[in-house]
Amino acid sequence: MWKIAFKAVLVTLGVIAVSQIVSFAIRASAGQPFTVFVFAMNSILPVVTALPAAFIIFLQNGKLKRALAELSQAHAQLHEKYRRDGLTGFLSREAFFDQMRQSRRQSDAGALLLIDADHFKRINDTFGHLTGDEALVMISRTIQGSIREQDFVGRVGGEEFCVFLPSTSREEAATIAERVRAAVEQIDFRPDSSRRHRLTVSIGVAMAQARLGRAQLMRQVDRCLYEAKEQGRNRVVFAQPLKLAA
Ligand code: GH3
Ligand code: MG
Ligand code: MG
Repeated sequence: MWKIAFKAVLVTLGVIAVSQIVSFAIRASAGQPFTVFVFAMNSILPVVTALPAAFIIFLQNGKLKRALAELSQAHAQLHEKYRRDGLTGFLSREAFFDQMRQSRRQSDAGALLLIDADHFKRINDTFGHLTGDEALVMISRTIQGSIREQDFVGRVGGEEFCVFLPSTSREEAATIAERVRAAVEQIDFRPDSSRRHRLTVSIGVAMAQARLGRAQLMRQVDRCLYEAKEQGRNRVVFAQPLKLAA
C-alpha cells in the first residue's frame, strides 16, 4: 500500500511540474504575470485530481498482476495434472503419446513396450482396492528402476503402462523388457503383512519402424500382449518386423 501511495505521489509531483512549466510558458507568451495564485492552482489541482486517479490505477494494476500470477499458477498446475498420473507420477496417456511423437520425430529407431499387470483384478478382489493401488505403485517404481535414463513411461490404462525406448536396437529392447519382467517378479509384496504375494506382468514389444504410425504400433504391442497372456502370462512377446509397402 505504501509503495502504491509513493508511486502516486511521484506521478502527482510530475504532473505538478509539467503544469507549472506549461502554464508559465503560455502566460509568458501572452504577456501575463506568473502569480502566486496561478502557482497554487497548478499545484492544488493535480493533488485533488491526479493523486487519487494515480492511486486507484496503481491499486487496480497491483490487483490485476496478482490475479494474473494466480491464473498462470493454476494453469501450470492444471497442465501438470494433465501431463502426470497422480498415483504413479508417470506421464499420462496423452502426455506419453505426445512425448513418443516428439521422440520419433528426432529418431525413428526405438521400441515400444506395453506392460500389463497380470490378474490384477484378483489383487483388488482379495486385498481391496487400496492395497491394489499400493501394488500398482510398487510395480511402477520397479518399471522405473529397470529402464534407462533416456526411456520414458506413461500410465496408459488402469494397470497398463507403456515404455518408449528411443534409439534402441531389438536386442537392447529385449534385454530391457526381460529386465522389467524379472524385476516385477521379485517385488516383495506382502499385502497381509505375512505371506508374500507374487506380482507379475506381461509385456508386448514392437520396434518403431519408419512410417509405422502410432495406431499400427499400438496394435502390434496389443497383439503381442494378448499372446503373452494367452501363453500363460509373466512373459515378453516380441512383434515380427512388419513388411511395409514401398
Ligand atoms: P489380465 O492378467 O488378463 O490382465 O487380468 P487382469 O485382472 O489384470 O485384467 P482385467 O482387465 O480383467 O482387470 C484389470 C483390473 O485392474 C480391474 C481394475 O479394477 C484394476 N485396476 C485398474 N486401475 C486400477 C487402479 O488404479 N487401482 C486399483 N487398485 N486397481 C485398478
Ligand atoms: Mg489391462
Ligand atoms: Mg491386467
